[in-house]
Amino acid sequence: MKLTVLGSGTVIPYPKRGNSGYFLQSENHSILIDGGSGALRKIADFGLNYRDIDIITYTHLHPDHCFDFIPLMFSLKHDSLLNRPKSVQIIAPKGFQTYFYQLMEIYGEWVIDDDIQFQIREISEVHIKLNNLIIQSFHTYHTDNSVGYLFVEVEGGKLLYSGDMDYFPEIIKYSKDMDILLLECSFPDDMKRKGHLTPSECGRIASESDVKTLILTHLYPEVLESEIIPQVKKYYSGEVIVASDGLEIEI
Ligand SMILES: [Zn+2]
Ligand SMILES: [Zn+2]
Repeated sequence: MKLTVLGSGTVIPYPKRGNSGYFLQSENHSILIDGGSGALRKIADFGLNYRDIDIITYTHLHPDHCFDFIPLMFSLKHDSLLNRPKSVQIIAPKGFQTYFYQLMEIYGEWVIDDDIQFQIREISEVHIKLNNLIIQSFHTYHTDNSVGYLFVEVEGGKLLYSGDMDYFPEIIKYSKDMDILLLECSFPDDMKRKGHLTPSECGRIASESDVKTLILTHLYPEVLESEIIPQVKKYYSGEVIVASDGLEIEI
């Protein structure tokens, strides 16, 4: 699989760091993982084709993770280069269906195209197999219904994406055996906020999971202006990558 980071920042404007968004290419699927404002444009900036997206997974409904959904629908509807009919499967936490219908009440025919189907699957903790790709979700400590995801290719790579979350010991059950942990790392150790991870908590999860590579993302300005690596290294001695927009990783 190949992962491209579309946005390694947050909603706070910060140079060269956009809202959350990731593009995962597996053998059979192109998956948009979250997609806050600006993520759609970054897909083109980084040489990827948004028309290939056949699965979208959302971790929660905070705007920095899903605000580009309407731009995506609007774009598909007005794209004469798109092969129709097209079907996109959306895997999202409880509440997305209501969010979708409320958006359709506002935007309706401006974005709806009869030849483009969105199949919404609301989940909490599930295990979905699509060809040779397994997508598994797990509840996270962030919002009532927030989830994180595992993307596991049969005889291939294994990625865990945390979405937004606070530390919880059971995360190790999911993160063990992964090739890569893509963890949110919002605030420095001395500015811990409930519902988000600090660098040392990310290091602790990576160490307890015994993974080879830890990628830190969802970086608020406060953490970017701190010394991130020494905080992680208090617990973890493996490879640490501070994500940047456009980062590409083979999994
Ligand atoms: Zn959030
Ligand atoms: Zn967020």
